Amino acid sequence: MKYYIFFGPPGAGKGTHAKAVTAAYNYKHISTGALLRAEIAAGTELGKEADALISKGNLVPDSMVEAMIANVFENEKEAEGFILDGFPRTLAQAEDLDKILADRGEEVSAVVSIMISDQLVMERILHRASIEGRADDASPEIVSNRIATYHAQTEPLIAYYKAQGKYHEVDGASPVLEENRDRVLAKMAELK
Ligand code: AMP
Repeated sequence: MKYYIFFGPPGAGKGTHAKAVTAAYNYKHISTGALLRAEIAAGTELGKEADALISKGNLVPDSMVEAMIANVFENEKEAEGFILDGFPRTLAQAEDLDKILADRGEEVSAVVSIMISDQLVMERILHRASIEGRADDASPEIVSNRIATYHAQTEPLIAYYKAQGKYHEVDGASPVLEENRDRVLAKMAELK
């Protein structure tokens, strides 16, 4: 089983490119953000707890997303691999993912990091707000907090995966979506 991590700041295109990859390969796309938004929409207790944090641009507790991820790994029997989008986002999540996979006799296959600048993150997310209507996309203050959270808590994972020899970068900054997508698809073909 392959376990690929799509890495990068909010708005890098992780979800969009993950969909293109799952159209080409028998991999399952897991977005922890989408799973959390489904809980919020369903009005569950977990969703209420998550909403209070997500709406401010903060991360939810590691244990919350790890339980979701473990559950998907357990129940998915058909796919040949997973594209993890938005997970792991902290060093503790990365270490716990390694343990969850080791227990299954597996390991992270590779990390594909989609590179864009902070300025482009802000532009893209404010644009996406007008299309998708996500509350955490709408205000520049919340987006700034998400960018700061990315630098403080998520960026350290780059060194973690570089040390494991699993870290790969792809330029995601072209204004032409298909150019970015094709770079990601080329990288996935190389990593297969
Ligand atoms: P995303 O759709 O990946 O941008 O995620 C939306 C929001 O969900 C994030 O800003 C976080 O508040 C929360 N979230 C998603 N994935 C995680 C994660 N792995 N760890 C903590 N919080 C997360």
